[in-house]
Amino acid sequence: RAKSAGGNRYELADPEADARAITRHGLTTALPAALDRGEFFIEYQPLVHLGDGSVRGAEALVRWLHPQHGILGPDRFIPLAEHTGLIVPLGRWVMEQSVRQARTWRERHGDGCPLRINVNLSPCQLTHPGLVQDTVDILERAGVQPDALCLEVTESALIGADDDLLKPLRRLAEMGVDIALDDFGTGYSNLANLRRLPVSVLKLDRSFTRGMQQFPADPVDLKIVEGIVSLAHSLDLAVTVEGVETGAQAEQLRILGCDTAQGWYYARPGPPERLHELALADAAG
Ligand code: C2E
Ligand code: MG
Ligand code: MG
Ligand code: MG
Repeated sequence: RAKSAGGNRYELADPEADARAITRHGLTTALPAALDRGEFFIEYQPLVHLGDGSVRGAEALVRWLHPQHGILGPDRFIPLAEHTGLIVPLGRWVMEQSVRQARTWRERHGDGCPLRINVNLSPCQLTHPGLVQDTVDILERAGVQPDALCLEVTESALIGADDDLLKPLRRLAEMGVDIALDDFGTGYSNLANLRRLPVSVLKLDRSFTRGMQQFPADPVDLKIVEGIVSLAHSLDLAVTVEGVETGAQAEQLRILGCDTAQGWYYARPGPPERLHELALADAAG
């Protein structure tokens, strides 16, 4: 934005920042029509069991195929959608698509390989009064059991959460929907607080896996992850690690007792058929 520097003299703040602001503004105003026009799509990234390497499910990650800018990642537009409230219908769309996708996978795989779907929730969706009913409706319409769905909520969204905020999550957890604490370890939350939260999965943030790129890994990182895993397991929480990029990391994290992993080492986020192939391949092999 041009800023008045007194009198009638205007000074351009920072041309790049200005261009970014213009793009932000353009993207923000284009969001509602983009949802109507079907410009969003979802990529799925497998969640792999560290013990036996089998694909257990996938995380749904939304993208925007923008007519001018090409494919935009969620970091470019989710904050804008949160700001304008469009995240509520967009999030509902993501959940509906993902749950239907989970049903398709389950139909094609049979009961032997019950793939589950993880869907990210924004803080604004948490405070939206329709969350529980929308979720129930989506599961019913798709004919999918609640235990096929895991909702990921970031640790920072739940820091200092009062009972009103936790109530819908408790209801969902009682129905059988899993709640995962996403980006765990970045939010400086009180570990004792974990007992209060209706979560069943901790997703360890990528920053922890980074320290394990070499073998042997950084001893301090090892100790921290070891501590988190033992605390999580003592509270009956499963541990998922994100950002696993190498076999060495996967091996370290397996030894440390992590349950599930996600990362480029296994697969990048991709179209739903890709997940189906990966799951089939390991069912066969
Ligand atoms: P997240 O939930 O923590 O998702 C994991 C992010 O890590 C994804 O980025 C994924 O592509 C990336 N990733 C996975 N494996 C690796 C790896 O091995 N190395 C590296 N460097 N990165 C890896 P993405 O797709 O850009 O999504 C970013 C964030 O956007 C997500 O972080 C999530 O917070 C948010 N997001 C994505 N889809 C949705 C959605 O439908 N709704 C909401 N509210 N947020 C979403
Ligand atoms: Mg997530
Ligand atoms: Mg995460
Ligand atoms: Mg993350």
